[in-house]
Amino acid sequence: MAGDVLFVQAAGRDTRPGSLTMVLLQISEPGEPTASHHSRQIALGIDLGTTNSLVAHFDGTETQVLKDDAGRAALPSVVYFGSDDTKIGYAAEPFSVTEPANTVASAKRLLGRAREEFADDPYLTLTQGGALAFSTAAGDKTPVEVSSTILSALKCRAEQHLSGNIAGAVITVPAYFDDAQRQATRQAAELSGIRVLRLLNEPTAAAVAYGLDADAEEASILAVYDLGGGTFDISILRMREGLFEVLATGGDSALGGDDFDRAITDFWLAELGLTQPSAIQRRVLLGLARSAKETLSAQQEVTMDCRALDIDCAELSLSREVLEGLVGSLIDRTLQACDVALLDAEVDSVDRVVLVGGATRMPRVRAAVTECFGREPLCRLDPDQVVAMGAARQADVLVGNRGEGEALLLDVIPLSLGLETYGGLVEKIIERNSTIPVARAQEFTTARDGQTGLVVHVLQGERERVEDCRSLARFELTGIPPMVAGAARIEVTFRVDADGILEVTAVEQLTGARSEVIVKPAFGLDETQITEMLKASYEFAAEDMTARQLAEARVEGEALLAGLQSAMSQDGDLLVVDEAQHLKEGMQALEGILAADDPQAIREMTEQVGRVSEDFAARRMDRSIQSALKGVSLTSLDADQTEERSDS
Ligand code: ADP
Ligand code: MG
Repeated sequence: MAGDVLFVQAAGRDTRPGSLTMVLLQISEPGEPTASHHSRQIALGIDLGTTNSLVAHFDGTETQVLKDDAGRAALPSVVYFGSDDTKIGYAAEPFSVTEPANTVASAKRLLGRAREEFADDPYLTLTQGGALAFSTAAGDKTPVEVSSTILSALKCRAEQHLSGNIAGAVITVPAYFDDAQRQATRQAAELSGIRVLRLLNEPTAAAVAYGLDADAEEASILAVYDLGGGTFDISILRMREGLFEVLATGGDSALGGDDFDRAITDFWLAELGLTQPSAIQRRVLLGLARSAKETLSAQQEVTMDCRALDIDCAELSLSREVLEGLVGSLIDRTLQACDVALLDAEVDSVDRVVLVGGATRMPRVRAAVTECFGREPLCRLDPDQVVAMGAARQADVLVGNRGEGEALLLDVIPLSLGLETYGGLVEKIIERNSTIPVARAQEFTTARDGQTGLVVHVLQGERERVEDCRSLARFELTGIPPMVAGAARIEVTFRVDADGILEVTAVEQLTGARSEVIVKPAFGLDETQITEMLKASYEFAAEDMTARQLAEARVEGEALLAGLQSAMSQDGDLLVVDEAQHLKEGMQALEGILAADDPQAIREMTEQVGRVSEDFAARRMDRSIQSALKGVSLTSLDADQTEERSDS
């Protein structure tokens, strides 16, 4: 540890004699990416999905989802890594039947995940660096590389549609993605040469696509129900003044449209009496099941050609009614997760429900959602495209294509960020619910004479005392020149980027000594923990306030004592009869009362001693001005010169 741990915050209000505090500097900087408003920048919204990925672009009037040459919007998130050939999307899909080991699907599930979680997957291996990878004919491919291949294909599609340089993209991630998963997504984008404007939560993107960020002044609660191919996510958001806050997330990471396909396949296998299907037959049936299921969202009956199965049967049929019977219990499971999320969010009702994900096209799913939330869900926009569309809107804002006055949709910081100051108190630098990106600076100073280093302790939480907040990071600033307490000027800057990653720098202004740390405040804290920390802060607000007042009063009292002690030893000759005695008594009384838990008494005594010392302080001030006029340093002054001063 370098020198003292704690240091005093520079505060502007205190001008009492002996005070060591100094003017507080609060600089606020807009942290948004800069951009010119003259020419439109090209920005993309990318939904990097488990099953399907999409890219969209907002051209100033309309959001378009960019299509492939065959007019298809979705790019299946599947990559085939052959020995001398890579295929992506629809072109890769057939290889999942013929060369399953070389065909990677659902790589998103493994992004940023630890290898222990997937120990038993036969197609997975570990790279030399110890990362999870798929072993393919083209070598080991990490989930980041697979995702980057998909992103490259989308970027390529965008370049074909749009002329000009692509300034960057907003890429969506599930709301529950942790820091490692977000970083992995970012890495995949960088690997494909895409500049990430920011990562955006998928449910937030869907809400933006519906323009919900702009429509209400009143706070409203939204539920985003997202049933994709392999995952089900439910998110409860609170929207206030264009800002979204995630209140709760829930769902099932192993439940989606694919499970419906499996249920249909099993039903058909039973119907055909095929007890031991080959792997190929199973895959063919799954494909037929999927397309039957999708068709049944628009009609009541469907008949599929199944000659590819090589069995004694040319056609398979399915009705919507039978399908609904097969998947009813799966849909019920999603509703149970919705109830849990509502409980977690502590809301009884929601104002809007947004449908996301291809599987929400099923009429049975829509009916179930309507019943569960007691209102019709929004479904005007295509549920598989809505996330990419919202991301494109956000990307457009972030590259600066909108006018100055228009609201920026941004996420907020769930808990305040601050640092430890003298007396074990937390000084908040960035308040909870500040929109990100954001940067704030404050100036601090040293608490002790000759202090050459300090520890910057970064904390998260609403409470006043260090032990009641969560410690995020601790770093040292060294190389402060030895000076009297209060002379050093240390500027501490907190900067939170659009992904919620916090960077803290401390710079000593005289010497330029500098130190910094990067932390990820969201890491490891889930919504429940955040809620708990908030609750505690309300519950203990009064108690915390007293503690803060006590600590502040003590800091001030101690500072006055220290100041007076050094003044008396330096300029003791300036004290008049009885004054020294008075002051000493006052200082003793103050010292005694500092130990008591009574901020009011400490404050009063500090003021009283301050008043007693006022005349003495004025005489010292005169002497120092006098000596400055004479070009003589304060310490070299002696009694004779004092006489001279008194005479003149
Ligand atoms: P993800 O977010 O996991 O990438 P999507 O939102 O693209 O997935 O959803 C894919 C799922 O949606 C697949 O199971 C697909 O069969 C299903 N799906 C797509 N269209 C329809 C439809 N018309 N009716 C029912 N399910 C559909
Ligand atoms: Mg999705």
